[in-house]
Amino acid sequence: MVYLDNAATTKPTQNVLDSVVNYLTNEFGNPSSLHKLGLSSQKLIDKSRSIIAKSLKCESSNIYFTSGATESNNIALFGAAEMYGKRKKRIISTSIEHASVNTVLKKLETMGYEIVKIHPNSNGIIDVNDIIEKIDENTFLISMMAVNNETGYLLPIKETIKIAKKINPNIIFHCDAVQAYMKMPFNVKEFAADIVSISAHKIHALKGTGAIYVKKGIRVSPSNLGGGQENGLRAGTEAVQNIVSFGVAVEELENTIKTRYSYVYELKTYFLDKIKNIDYISVNSKGDTSPYIINISVLNIKSEIMLHFLEEKNIYISTGSACSKGKKSEVLKAFGVEDNLIDTALRISFNSENTKNEMDTLLFGINEGYEKLIKLK
Ligand code: PMP
Repeated sequence: MVYLDNAATTKPTQNVLDSVVNYLTNEFGNPSSLHKLGLSSQKLIDKSRSIIAKSLKCESSNIYFTSGATESNNIALFGAAEMYGKRKKRIISTSIEHASVNTVLKKLETMGYEIVKIHPNSNGIIDVNDIIEKIDENTFLISMMAVNNETGYLLPIKETIKIAKKINPNIIFHCDAVQAYMKMPFNVKEFAADIVSISAHKIHALKGTGAIYVKKGIRVSPSNLGGGQENGLRAGTEAVQNIVSFGVAVEELENTIKTRYSYVYELKTYFLDKIKNIDYISVNSKGDTSPYIINISVLNIKSEIMLHFLEEKNIYISTGSACSKGKKSEVLKAFGVEDNLIDTALRISFNSENTKNEMDTLLFGINEGYEKLIKLK
């Protein structure tokens, strides 16, 4: 199998799987139970919390576990709106955010908030000045992803936070860091965001768990009410086995962020080099991009048709964000990609276990697919 859909999800590592089986076999207590099985589950949650806090360079008390980055994004936006959006109503974001930000913003708009979206400019980049221009005395929140999940584009998070806070130190900055966390150096000391969303299954841990970092002093209202778990921010019995897996995955990855980045960069460069003279393939990713994601179009072959052709060869890629399930990509549109290229777009996303051989297999598959499928048109 050649798996190149790592932006959608990643394969759990053996250590992750072992930790889950070990926990469920030997511990399995409800962390809220008062007996020692409960206590040891709570201790395991706190261990993962401290591993994640260390990786983000913050205190454990700033990390809350959630059911995934979708929930983290919901808590960040609804939670900050409830706490800080009583009088001020403007939220600034971009037109290339993930559905779990975009859809919440749409909802907030119906609730009376003013949503200002910044679009990539004609060079395909989000210009910090365009954001700064929109900050007014009514603005209480900026939400910007670190890395775009469809094209890999790296948004100017650091500069935006720095300038925005200079203009108005009270503005809350939320960052969806799902595609950056553990893939490139990212921590809240350097990036200085107030709220950060991350997801476990994008970094070789289990699906159904994520976390939200909330800076000390920042208040967000809870998503679920109930038993007061996660310090009251997210009630509900914790998915302990997932949280354990999250900690194990971070421990496995945190010391190799730079070496993996360089390796994947080399892999992506190798692939880009191979396709540069192929006239029926064009690259849709623009601006500075993460090495982990590339978006290309195979001219005249609809994305889904190519995806299924490759699937038959045991090669797995995607047509775009897994969360938009085949809908026409609003993100590529926002980047100014033409309609026919959007219809034929493929997202290839790597992990550090992928090899140049696999790149060759993918390219061979695409070539073969193109030759066969173009004749059927
Ligand atoms: N934000 C981004 C940028 C993502 O890529 C994803 C996953 N597709 C999410 C949020 C949602 O994460 P989860 O699957 O953990 O809900």
